[in-house]
Amino acid sequence: MIPDRCSFCKVKLVKGSHEFVVKVGEAILAIKDVDAFICQECGEAYYTSGTSRRIDQAMRKFHSSSLLVHPLPAGEVSLNEIEA
Ligand SMILES: [Zn+2]
Repeated sequence: MIPDRCSFCKVKLVKGSHEFVVKVGEAILAIKDVDAFICQECGEAYYTSGTSRRIDQAMRKFHSSSLLVHPLPAGEVSLNEIEA
């Protein structure tokens, strides 16, 4: 179930669209246009169980390379590599 309010800042959630980014092994998968309820304060996104299931399926398909994905440039950095 989706909470009515953000569990961190208690702000009311707003229905919207979200980009879900997850690291699968050594690759990054970004899933666009994910229906979510988003906290306007901290940006935390909440998904319905149906949406979570579809995200899981996408991740599984991506992992087994049966998902046709659009390649994106990606960059990765460790915070320790950045000089203060
Ligand atoms: Zn919040």
